[in-house]
Amino acid sequence: MNTIDTHYDVVIVGAGVGGGAMANRLTKTGARVLMIERGNYLPREADNWSVKAVFHQRKYTTKETWRDKSGNSFTPSTFYYVGGNSKFFGAATVRFRVEDFEELQHEDGIAPAWPVSYHEFAPYYDEAERLMGTHGTAGADPIEPPRSGPMPYPAIGHEPEIEAVAEKLRGKGLRPFPLPIAIDRHDGGKCIRCPTCDGFACKLGAKNDAEIRLVGPALATGLVDLVLDTKVLRMLTDGSGRRVTGIEVEQAGATRVISGDLFITSAGAINSTAILLRSANEKHPRGLGNNTSDQLGRNYMAHNNTAMMAINPLHKNRVKFQKSMAINDFYLANAHRPWPMGNVQGLGKLQGGMLTANAKWIPEWLMDLFAERSIDWWIMSEDLPRPENRVTLDKDGTIRVNYTPNNLTSHNALVRHWTRIMRSIGYPIVITQRMDITVSMHQCGTARFGNDPATSVLDPYGKVWDVDNLYVVDASFLPSSTGFNPSLTIVAQAIRVAEHIANNVLKASTAA
Ligand SMILES: Cc1cc2nc3c(=O)[nH]c(=O)nc-3n(C[C@H](O)[C@H](O)[C@H](O)COP(=O)(O)OP(=O)(O)OC[C@H]3O[C@@H](n4cnc5c(N)ncnc54)[C@H](O)[C@@H]3O)c2cc1C
Ligand code: SF4
Repeated sequence: MNTIDTHYDVVIVGAGVGGGAMANRLTKTGARVLMIERGNYLPREADNWSVKAVFHQRKYTTKETWRDKSGNSFTPSTFYYVGGNSKFFGAATVRFRVEDFEELQHEDGIAPAWPVSYHEFAPYYDEAERLMGTHGTAGADPIEPPRSGPMPYPAIGHEPEIEAVAEKLRGKGLRPFPLPIAIDRHDGGKCIRCPTCDGFACKLGAKNDAEIRLVGPALATGLVDLVLDTKVLRMLTDGSGRRVTGIEVEQAGATRVISGDLFITSAGAINSTAILLRSANEKHPRGLGNNTSDQLGRNYMAHNNTAMMAINPLHKNRVKFQKSMAINDFYLANAHRPWPMGNVQGLGKLQGGMLTANAKWIPEWLMDLFAERSIDWWIMSEDLPRPENRVTLDKDGTIRVNYTPNNLTSHNALVRHWTRIMRSIGYPIVITQRMDITVSMHQCGTARFGNDPATSVLDPYGKVWDVDNLYVVDASFLPSSTGFNPSLTIVAQAIRVAEHIANNVLKASTAA
């Protein structure tokens, strides 16, 4: 049974990337912090690395169902554990570009400017990389934004198979570079460099996920309590509607209210929205944080993502850790196309069973044959914020993700171009699969931050405009999805918000 105090200075919903980083930084303030997590610890066991358990039985994925815009039910690829979705992440910890913080013209529209510039944000990226233990080579990425120094650890290096591909790409005039990665792979580190990292949890605790790097160290200070298997249902406000007074939770089949002074929702972009929508009351009839802007849940983004297998039937790819390289030559407008196209990065090594999980009619031996001879890529392009792409709650309380992809022309052009490049370097067979709505791994944008309460849900420090003591600190805050993996930016924003709370909110309340 989870025992907790009756009142906390700060209550955080969700022990994932955003919540973990927030709790971690608040330990410096001496505040009493409670984290409420709907899941439990993910057991470290053989099944962590089993294709059958992870992809066929979906042992660790939520059993919850959501609905798409047509009302069809689907089971999202989302994970409810201490550490959140990062337990299964590919550990790519990448900074967004200077241009991502500014208004950026895409073929299908404009990605809006952020309320903060890259240069203001950069020191928080420095700290986020330290917290996550990023490995990489500063200066190797041809469009890398300015940074204050080297990465915390040197790049993990390419295995010979990948180095050979990098050499061929260089021969084509491209500039591949080491993908910044957060695994414990350096002298004295625990990582054994295995093929089951991206999309799997680490049996050894060597992946630098939010449990290992953020939540665990926060708990070790003794200043943070964590309550497990406890789902937050909604937030309660005082009569004025300006302050949250408590959180209603469901624990072991019963509901109870937990009170505090300051509240932070870090349940992920979709679940934070669901909580705020469920918290509708007389003063906030459209949900908490939705009075002024009607933007809560809107602008949902998740990237245009395609997985690619490029196969050389005559050559076996014996790589173990394939996610060590990335290509940014097409990230911004480029010689090939006058619009940003996206990022290409190595995908964790595909195995036959991973491919047959969603296509059971294909014989596994055939997919094994392909997978043993393929080099695999993740091709990721920006999708743009659109108000009609919106997370809502159906009458029965089920989450609905109303999403129609956009900016696909550029994404498809990148997939075609990368296919041509693969063929030109000796991979004649190329198989691609675009990710659908169930792959909500890069969900973001549902409570964007901004300078104008009429067009954003959060102020530039993540506080809900309509409520004085409520913050959203997870992927919800992103005003644009950019073409990169989001977790490092979520951590950096959490550190930034925590610093603001420490200096301006907690100090002020102590002084009063
Ligand atoms: C397979 C996979 C690969 C990925 N690879 C990468 C990568 O290489 N690089 C990268 O940057 N990103 C990657 N991501 C994405 C990354 O994991 C997410 O962007 C990140 O975890 C989001 O952080 P968050 O704080 O918004 O939410 P999460 O980390 O998901 O945390 C939300 C937490 O809130 C809890 N919660 C939800 N609802 C409630 C509730 N009602 N009450 C209490 N608790 C609740 C959840 O259980 C969870 O612990 C990947 C994701 C997946 C699934
Ligand atoms: S590559 Fe390293 S961090 Fe990733 S799962 Fe394997 S041992 Fe763990």
